[in-house]
Amino acid sequence: MTDRRTELAVNLARVEERITAACAAAGRAREDVTLVVVTKTYPAEDVRILHGLGVRHVAENRDQDAAPKAAACADLDLTWHFVGQLQTNKVRSVAGYAQVVQSIDRLRLVSALSSAAERAGRELDCLIQVALDAESGERGERGGVAPGGVEELAAAVDAAPGLRLGGLMTVAPLAGPFAGRQRAAFDRLVELSAGLRATRPAATMVSAGMSADLEDAVAAGATHVRIGTAVLGVRPRLG
Ligand SMILES: *Cc1c(COP(=O)(O)O)cnc(C)c1O
Repeated sequence: MTDRRTELAVNLARVEERITAACAAAGRAREDVTLVVVTKTYPAEDVRILHGLGVRHVAENRDQDAAPKAAACADLDLTWHFVGQLQTNKVRSVAGYAQVVQSIDRLRLVSALSSAAERAGRELDCLIQVALDAESGERGERGGVAPGGVEELAAAVDAAPGLRLGGLMTVAPLAGPFAGRQRAAFDRLVELSAGLRATRPAATMVSAGMSADLEDAVAAGATHVRIGTAVLGVRPRLG
């Protein structure tokens, strides 16, 4: 094994242990939680190594980095998730490689992504990103729609050709009533998810939890955790 492969294998095993322990503590089955490794700022070679170590879900937050990386790994059976704030002029590119877009936060994005998915002949899974630090009608500091805007977006995704409503996503807020209260934030997301599933039983995905707070997310009921630093190391630059 190369040094990098060894490093990633060790880190991945640690994260795997954390998820397994969190599932056991919550009385949940390990297979109910999907590990999505956030590979932003790291090269395609790392993605390839991770695939060799069994990773099948990867995530990126900037199209200009993600598009060439996904192209370099096109021979691998990977599911690419897009988790960053998404500009409408990037949707055509993103629809070419991403299977899941986790950061739906405005109507304009739904219509643009729908056209792009149709043009690409693909069906994309969409998660609505909820900003738990935003007042109703506002968008969050780190993207996302306030809880009061979820229903309108869900209805738009339901009606959009080429898009399938997968569920909800959040990033633990740095400000507002949930700042520093990850568990409470994730509980709130799960509550919103239950509301959504009352009329849309297929929208089961709950994406929450990063390297620092995956245990809180699993305890709250997350189905997807998005882990970067704990697998790949501290990022060389902001991303
Ligand atoms: C970078 C990022 C992550 C991963 O964060 P880590 O703290 O490195 O695990 C998760 N979700 C989103 C939306 C991100 O941008």
